[in-house]
Parts: sequence; structure tokens; C-alpha cells
Amino acid sequence: MPTSKVRTGIAALAAMGCLWACREVHMAKREAKETFKTDKEWKETLTPEQYHILRGKGTENAFTGQYYAFKGTGTYLCAACGHPLFSSQKKYDSGTGWPSFWEPLRETAVARAPDHSLGRERTEVLCPVCGGHLGHVFEDGPPPSGLRYCINSAALRFAVQ
Ligand SMILES: [Zn+2]
Repeated sequence: MPTSKVRTGIAALAAMGCLWACREVHMAKREAKETFKTDKEWKETLTPEQYHILRGKGTENAFTGQYYAFKGTGTYLCAACGHPLFSSQKKYDSGTGWPSFWEPLRETAVARAPDHSLGRERTEVLCPVCGGHLGHVFEDGPPPSGLRYCINSAALRFAVQ
């Protein structure tokens, strides 16, 4: 077989392998968002309060959650799926009664979406992996970001670093 034909064959195989791999990644991502768990499964695995907040976009009462005044050093994970969301290094006391962060762990650590409920324009903060509702982000935070990620304690799980 001429070398050029062998080369073409190898290139074609490599391309197919890449396409297959990309398809797998794409499918995995789609599944994570759409069918991470059924509503019934979420009800079974989350506490009623976690379910109300994470799946029902609820808000816990101020000064009632376990993390608003918590000062441990570590990482805050999504209570539903364990995805790392925020670092204790970027947490601050906003005085609002909810855990507040001026920046997520990474820019892509959280997802954001417009929220027009309650007759106000707000930006909802979500877990990018399971789609769980975490809280909202407001533009009255401290420097350097000027942002305040106002997050429900019940949507978080703290992990020591
Ligand atoms: Zn999650």
C-alpha cells in the first residue's frame, strides 16, 4: 500500500476517534444538565429545605443558615452534587445573614441566569453541573470585584482544604 494511502487512513481514523470522543463529552454534558437526577430522586436525596432551595429556587430566612457566620478555611461545594463553588478566601461578612462571597472559586465555577421574579431584575446563581439554585449575585459587594454572591447555606456543603 502506498505510504500516502496509509497516512490518509491513519488521519481518518484519528479524526473518527476525535469525533467520537467529542460526542461522548457532549453527551455527558447534556446528561448532566438535563437528566442529572429525576425530580423524584432529588426529593429522596435532599432534605426538604435543600430541595425547596436547590430545586424550587427558594430562599432560606436570613441569619438562620449554618454558614452565614462560619469562618472555616476550605471550599464550599454544591450540597446537591459536590461541585466546588466558592473558596473561604473569598467569603466576607456582608451583614445580610446569608453566606456572601465577592467571587466564585473560578469564573466558570458557577452559572448565572437572569431572574425576573418578584418584579425585580436580578441575576440568579446556579450550579453549572446539576443546575441547582444557589442564590443571587448583586453589584453591591466589596472590591476588587464589587460583587456580592448571596448564597443559601442550605445549597452549600463545606469541605476542609
Ligand atoms: Zn450541583
